[in-house]
Amino acid sequence: MSREQQAVARARKAFETGRSRPLEYRIIQLKNLQRLFIEREKDISDAIKKDLNKSEVGTQLYETMGLEGEINLAIRKLKEWAAPRPVEKNLLTLSDTVYIQPEPLGLVLIIGAWNYPWAVTIQPLIGAIAAGNAAVVKPSEVCVHTAKVMEDLLPLYIDKELYPVVTGGVAETQELLRQRFDYIFYTGNGTVGKVIMEAAAKHLTPVTLELGGKSPCYIDKNCDISIACRRITWGKYTNCGQTCIAPDYILCDPSIQDRVIEEVKKSIKDFYTENPKTCPDYGRIINQRHFKRIMALVGDSTVAAGGDGDESDCFIAPTVLRDVKPDAKVMQEEIFGPILPILPVSGLDEAIKFINKGEKPLALYVFSADEKVISRMRDETSSGGFLANDCLVHFSVSSLPFGGVGNSGMGCYHGKFSFDQLSHLRGCLIKKLKMEGVNNMRYPPHTPKKLGW
Ligand code: NAD
Repeated sequence: MSREQQAVARARKAFETGRSRPLEYRIIQLKNLQRLFIEREKDISDAIKKDLNKSEVGTQLYETMGLEGEINLAIRKLKEWAAPRPVEKNLLTLSDTVYIQPEPLGLVLIIGAWNYPWAVTIQPLIGAIAAGNAAVVKPSEVCVHTAKVMEDLLPLYIDKELYPVVTGGVAETQELLRQRFDYIFYTGNGTVGKVIMEAAAKHLTPVTLELGGKSPCYIDKNCDISIACRRITWGKYTNCGQTCIAPDYILCDPSIQDRVIEEVKKSIKDFYTENPKTCPDYGRIINQRHFKRIMALVGDSTVAAGGDGDESDCFIAPTVLRDVKPDAKVMQEEIFGPILPILPVSGLDEAIKFINKGEKPLALYVFSADEKVISRMRDETSSGGFLANDCLVHFSVSSLPFGGVGNSGMGCYHGKFSFDQLSHLRGCLIKKLKMEGVNNMRYPPHTPKKLGW
């Protein structure tokens, strides 16, 4: 048996003992996970610093704080989430007890990505534990140091049979995918998303695919451009642009393009100084492969700011591109780096048309002081999430479902949505062995006399 098969078999066996089911056990595991984040904060942030040059504060803000919040919420709400949910009855079932009973699915496979390696791997795990499942956790191999810390630390805090960590790359993940799971929760790019879905189909395993894409950002002429650009600059260059919901590109009227560029440049300087390379709050590209890919995207467009990089350090300066054409290289794929193209459009109608020509994005941003512009953008487009006048923050709202639609993914999570996604919502009807007369009509023979027709 391979290492992957062994982990899966052990987790399956542990699930079959039934110990993941009692709410008390789930809460103990969640509390232990919480303890890990409190006690091992330094190990976690040191590893992420090595992987992505994230500052300690950056790791707290964008990884651990959110996870701790989600764990607290799950601990606080678990009893309510897991309780039977009474539903409306029909005439035939008036005297019965009719409810939805969430039940664990069984064994979940969680495949994480590297850009927020703890957030995107552990957040589904919180849902899996809360819902009473076992889960095999496969962190991204691209974040070498973080994967190692996760592999070392998780078994010290939570049940290592029920929630094993399996490290490795494509070969190991594919070996895992050959095994049978009851659910697969994948975060990463769409090409691999198709590989995951194909493997899942062999066992009829349901999936959540948290993918990416090009998230557009429309700036209306009628808005405070300075504030808009400050928020967009934050959303774009946080984690060096390697954020699934980063605004990928800006659409705006040509008359405000120069102003937008100036304001973005000003915010870049405010956030990361004149020299972002030495600024502790500015990250690095994950590896040289991605460095080369991102630098090649700049090629055929006009640089308005930045544009330079240092391959030896995986540094790419915060970059703005102006007058970008729809057929430019940078518009052909998700950028996932610190490059911000600006595409002039003649107004809201053209912006909506442009967005609708592309795949449905993971996030869609609009900046405007006009509520009509905001509601038109919302009503005439589709995307995983929709934000007006800010970026990224919807990720932190546990009461909102987080996930994609169409090419940006399927399924959703966070808060109770994670619990529901990783539970089977079982429809239950409990009848008493009495009042048999009520059922008379349904039994054959269906004579007109009996039916009263
Ligand atoms: P990645 O390279 O870390 O891959 C993700 C996972 O897929 C890894 O665990 C890896 O081992 C596995 N994998 C890679 N190739 C595989 C293959 N051929 N077969 C089986 N498994 C394979 O991460 P990535 O895909 O570069 O991540 C970036 C993408 O993820 C971006 O598109 C981004 O938008 C998206 N993303 C989405 C979310 C979200 O919540 N929707 C969050 C983060 C990232």
